[in-house]
Amino acid sequence: MTTELQAAPTPAPTAHSEALFARARAVTPGGVNSPVRAFRSVGGTPRFIARADGAYLTDADGTRLLDYIGSWGPMILGHNHPAVRGAIADALQYGTSFGAPGEREVLLAELVTRLTGVDRVRFVSSGTEATMSALRLARGVTGRKFIVKFRGNYHGHADGLLVEAGSGLLTNADGALGAAAPSSAGVPEEYAGLTLVSEYNDPAALDALMAARGSEVAAVIFEPVVGNAGVLIPTPEFLAALHRVKTHGALLIADEVMTGFRLSLGGATGLLGLRPDLICWGKIIGGGLPVGAYGGRAEVMDFVSPQGPVYQAGTLSGNPLAMAAGLATLSALEADPDLYARLGAYTTALADGLRDAASAAGVPISINHIGSMLTAFHLDAPDGSVRTYTDAAASDTKAFARWFQGMLGRGVYWAPSQFESIFVSGVHGDAELNATLDAARAAYVDLGRELGA
Ligand SMILES: *Cc1c(COP(=O)(O)O)cnc(C)c1O
Repeated sequence: MTTELQAAPTPAPTAHSEALFARARAVTPGGVNSPVRAFRSVGGTPRFIARADGAYLTDADGTRLLDYIGSWGPMILGHNHPAVRGAIADALQYGTSFGAPGEREVLLAELVTRLTGVDRVRFVSSGTEATMSALRLARGVTGRKFIVKFRGNYHGHADGLLVEAGSGLLTNADGALGAAAPSSAGVPEEYAGLTLVSEYNDPAALDALMAARGSEVAAVIFEPVVGNAGVLIPTPEFLAALHRVKTHGALLIADEVMTGFRLSLGGATGLLGLRPDLICWGKIIGGGLPVGAYGGRAEVMDFVSPQGPVYQAGTLSGNPLAMAAGLATLSALEADPDLYARLGAYTTALADGLRDAASAAGVPISINHIGSMLTAFHLDAPDGSVRTYTDAAASDTKAFARWFQGMLGRGVYWAPSQFESIFVSGVHGDAELNATLDAARAAYVDLGRELGA
């Protein structure tokens, strides 16, 4: 057994991915259409994926990989789910885009409002559009200019939100932390200047900021559980401070693009008993097709055009194929009430197994997990003690990168950045758990030996 674990895995062929990556780099910036796919912070060639089924991806060289990314969140039912595929195939018979309203938009809006408690919802085509539109709405409703966000939270790539942002912005080429505000070139400082930044899980800092500037703040936007700095779980005190921002007349916007329909049918809002004024969705709401949405009380949402003065539109918004995929996904989640408990049990077992394996190999890690989201930070601290972006930033990203490669080489496709959550799906079962922990034990042993050397 020991010798088996210690044997380095035979490297899987990557010639096809390498060739595709070379061609991609010639015609697309960095060879990818979204930065974190490029493997910059972990090194090596990104695997080009040829197909995806259940809990597995198959890359261009024919290697099967156990997937923990789930397309960065949407695939909570697993890839190529028969009900979702069937719904898309059915919708496909009737045309792919109408530029006029259709019944599926009504059905999905009825389902989303019923599951989440908002009165009205507007569909867009990405999470970025959802947060961008919700902030314009908040400014339109309040007549104020400033917004508040938190360090390391990511809300998509709109100008004013690329300030101290998480996700791909947290990892640069050498795996170190990204620069301070703004997080991207091309964001005018005038835009960034309208975004005030506070520290996640620091209620006193938020109270102080609101005491000083609250009357100018249109909205406070937050990830109710952070996925984009790695998983950070809010403290009850921080959640209470978030709700206090309403006393300043600011709207509270829960960015549930990642957590919506993932942490419960009612998202993090339902799980944690939050009372936001607006909620943003993406990812799962489209079941793997491009959908975003934002919603809230009628009197707020009725500021949106054509009902109200806040303009927001989209040629492909409410697209019939995308609505069909979203409807099938949310319906399948609703039809399986035990799913969230199963996801949580799998993720807890995964956390326990990773902790044991790392500690046996002498590798320090600190795990945060909730529902089907998990991050194992490579730092020496008790589990659950990583609470802020600053805590997470102390991770040994080089150690993470080595461990990531050890997992990938053993057929397990972890998120290629220390500062991301992994996502478990409903089709991750005992076989997948055992295979993951076998790979993890071996990868930690390798890493432990390197760290000790
Ligand atoms: C993914 C994500 C977004 C952006 O969604 P896109 O569909 O990638 O534009 C916004 N907010 C959060 C919390 C996310 O995880």
